[in-house]
This record gives sequence, structure tokens and C-alpha cells, in this order.
Amino acid sequence: MGRYNGPVCRLCRRAGEKLFLKGEKCFSPKCAVDKRPTPPGQVVGRRKRLSERGIQLREKQKARWTYGLLERQMVKYYQEAKMKPGMTGKTLLQRLELRLDNTFYRLGLADSRAQARELIVQGHITVNGQKMDIPSARVNIGDVIGFVESFKKSGFYKERIKDLQRKPIPGWLSLDTTAVTGKVIAEPQISDMDTKIEDRLIVEYYSR
Ligand code: SF4
Repeated sequence: MGRYNGPVCRLCRRAGEKLFLKGEKCFSPKCAVDKRPTPPGQVVGRRKRLSERGIQLREKQKARWTYGLLERQMVKYYQEAKMKPGMTGKTLLQRLELRLDNTFYRLGLADSRAQARELIVQGHITVNGQKMDIPSARVNIGDVIGFVESFKKSGFYKERIKDLQRKPIPGWLSLDTTAVTGKVIAEPQISDMDTKIEDRLIVEYYSR
């Protein structure tokens, strides 16, 4: 299954809820889910009844679309989580939250995970003072995330620092608004996630 390149609002409509894939638009009246909550191609007011397998698939897809993953990446995260002690679903979601692109977005330093990925790939981001250009890199407790010095002259950076606390920051992160850096201070909790994903359904989907 390849990467989806179409309009991302269709993914939210397919999931039946907001996945916050478009930055500011997601919080505006222009949000496609608010305007038309049915899946693409279905009549307003009617949502097809899903089988048990369909519900599991939708939840797995929700996680994949939220974090911008290919199916093979999702399978890899699941297999890694399965090898770890503890609850597979919780470990899986924690690992997804600890991706560098997600962490950067959750700090409010980018408007969406897609924008965070772009900034990382273009080499504008540091982890513990070192440039890091891998969006999937795992961050750990104690890691400090910021911008490379040269990027601080950019229009994006100047706009960003005007309003750093536009969104609530989850409890596992802290933001230093003076240095414009974020720090991982704890393990992410499922209750802190901005999209509610039923990890149990994902585990059931892959266990079959
Ligand atoms: Fe589009 Fe964002 Fe609304 Fe999803 S939440 S439908 S990405 S505007």
C-alpha cells in the first residue's frame, strides 16, 4: 500500500472524525468533517454499517493516516511493539508519539505532522544540538529539540515565535519559549494523544 497523495480531508471523512492533518484549517469552520461528516461518495446522514473487521481496519488506518505512515512502516512498528514486554497496543502508540516529526508537531513548532516532516527533511531541526533529518527518528526522555541557527532568519521562524503557545502541549513535553526548544520530560500517555485511537482494535487487526 503506497503513500496517499490525494486531499487529506478525505481521510478524515473516511475515518469519520478529525485527524488534524491540515494545521490551522482543522480548527476553522472550513474543516471538511465539520461541513460534511459522511465518507466521500456517501449520502449525507447515512454511514455504512461496518463489520468487526472493517472497524478494526478503520482504526488501523486512522493511526496510519494520523502519523503519515506507509502500511509497511505500520507493520514494522506493530512487530517491534509485539516484541516488547507490556501491552502491545499501548507500546505501539507510545512509539508513534515518540517519532521526531510527531514530537515537533505536538510542541506546536509546526502546524501539522506533514509540515514537521518537511522541516526535518530539509535539515532545519536539531536534536540535542545536532542536526537531525530523519522524521521517524525516535526521541527519548531528556532530548531537546530545536531549530538550526541558520533557520532562525527565516520568515517561518519569525512568524512562529510570535505565538508559540497556540495549542496545549501534552504533559510529556515542555516548551522553552525563550530558547524556542522543546524537551521530552516523560513517556507519552495515550490520554495525551490529540486523536483518540483504540489500540486494542489495531492489535486485533494485525493478530488475525
Ligand atoms: Fe481537513 Fe483538518 Fe478537518 Fe481533517 S481535521 S477534515 S484535515 S481540516
